[in-house]
Amino acid sequence: MNKCYCKSGLDFAECCEPILRVEQVAPTALSLMRSRYSAYCLGDVNYLQATTHDHTWTDDELKFIQDWADNSFWQHLEIVDFSDDMVEFKAYYIFENVQHLHHERSTFLKVNDMWKYVDGEIYEDKVTLLRNETCICGSGKKYKRCCATRITK
Ligand SMILES: [Zn+2]
Ligand SMILES: [Zn+2]
Repeated sequence: MNKCYCKSGLDFAECCEPILRVEQVAPTALSLMRSRYSAYCLGDVNYLQATTHDHTWTDDELKFIQDWADNSFWQHLEIVDFSDDMVEFKAYYIFENVQHLHHERSTFLKVNDMWKYVDGEIYEDKVTLLRNETCICGSGKKYKRCCATRITK
């Protein structure tokens, strides 16, 4: 069994997979947010579009998001805080040889029983992953021997 991309610790088949396959609706804003992170890991831009409230992406936007999702190495999702319609999270990823941290407080809305992403406030955090500390991705290895090796320049 594969562990879910969203780092819940659950099996993918019992976490985000049925939601991504639209076999099951996300019961909470938090579960929708987790499934959207998994969709980034899988490059499932159609799912991201389908779960965004009241905004249809242009072809250029779709292309940009697809490129970002596909060419990023998604390391970790940390839930900082959440309520019924809000999730604050930190997503760690490597894109174009740079270690990134995306820290956002997102708002969600339930429309016809489906949770949708509305928008978010983005915090400009500095990433502080230390080379000799255990890697954020959960491999158990030191960062310098794990995700840092994906940064090639
Ligand atoms: Zn999941
Ligand atoms: Zn790692």
